[in-house]
Amino acid sequence: MGLLRTEFCFLDRDTEPSVEEQTEAYGEVFAVFDDHKVVVRTLDAGADKPLPFLTDSQEPNPALGVRGFRTSRWAMGVLQRQLEAIAAAAEKHPATVHVMAPMIATADEARQFADLVSAAGLSTSGVMVEVPSAALRAGSIVEEVDFASIGTNDLTQYAMAADRMLGGLAELSDSWQPAVLQLVGMTAEQGAVAEKSVGVCGEAAGDPALAVVLVGLGVTSLSMAPRALPAVAEVLRSVSLQQARQIAVAVLAARDSQEAKTVARAQLPVLNDLGL
Ligand code: PEP
Ligand code: MG
Repeated sequence: MGLLRTEFCFLDRDTEPSVEEQTEAYGEVFAVFDDHKVVVRTLDAGADKPLPFLTDSQEPNPALGVRGFRTSRWAMGVLQRQLEAIAAAAEKHPATVHVMAPMIATADEARQFADLVSAAGLSTSGVMVEVPSAALRAGSIVEEVDFASIGTNDLTQYAMAADRMLGGLAELSDSWQPAVLQLVGMTAEQGAVAEKSVGVCGEAAGDPALAVVLVGLGVTSLSMAPRALPAVAEVLRSVSLQQARQIAVAVLAARDSQEAKTVARAQLPVLNDLGL
């Protein structure tokens, strides 16, 4: 599935880049993808990714504040100009460009985003599922768009109420937490009913054992850093879909993340063979 985090184009900027500048930056990326698919995530400003021109540094709880798609509540033009630039860059390159919004919490937000995407002349819109409300209500949310992609980094943060920036909460900020995996499973199930694809684009997809669990939970695609690909592919190849589903069921029954990992490992001998 892939994930182009567009903040790269905005970081260290005190002002919004022009549409022309953005068009050029996105075009450079699209050129590398030739005629393949690129999933562009619209700006995810705020909390762990503050942008001076878009986020209020005085908010008492930035992770729960105006971040991601929510910035368009008062700065709609920034998102509209970004979509205009993505559309202009997509026109100039053969890549198949899909766009998705971060931090969608309600079906109304999903619809607003889909409307903005089609107004910009782009054909395929998606949402990130990284807020528990979106996982719980995924059915009504995916109805508004073409696909969903689960951001396990934030979904874990919000499901466990554990700040992803705090190393001291690492054991809570672990996507192996059965509560997080249950939300992933609910999202995938609702996506399947609606016949919409549900990928995972958080760090979890790059953990080979967890990738098996995600597939077993019904996730239809995984996006990861290139260095994680060989091990994930090898471990996925070692199991059938039926086995992955059984492992997912066993993992959901675990009482904590440690037990979830142990249960999955016990059914994946290939991990030891690969020294993982
Ligand atoms: C996520 O939250 O899992 C994600 C992919 O987005 P980011 O880490 O950029 O917030
Ligand atoms: Mg996120």
